Amino acid sequence: MRTSYDAPKTLSRPDWWGDDALCRTYDPDEFFPEDWRRGPGKLQAIVAKQICARCPAITPCLDGALQRREPVGIWGGLDPDERTQLVVNRGRSTQAPAA
Ligand code: SF4
Repeated sequence: MRTSYDAPKTLSRPDWWGDDALCRTYDPDEFFPEDWRRGPGKLQAIVAKQICARCPAITPCLDGALQRREPVGIWGGLDPDERTQLVVNRGRSTQAPAA
């Protein structure tokens, strides 16, 4: 039985995605549920987020996903909806107050 996986060969390997990235020891598909909002995909996303929560690379991982505008997958402990909401919230917090 295979217990660890290499990163998909199609993915580049950024500096932060080194030995610290916990997802390197899991099937990459576990971090890319087809539908993270419901059913089995939602459970899969929850499990992936729990792994991310223990990952030393969570901050640079999330920053990179936000910069690249990753449209799918769990990155830095957040799903695409949560990343979008974070960007919206950050935009609101940097807006100047109305005069
Ligand atoms: S935060 Fe999650 S997706 Fe990012 S490197 Fe860590 S385990 Fe992988």
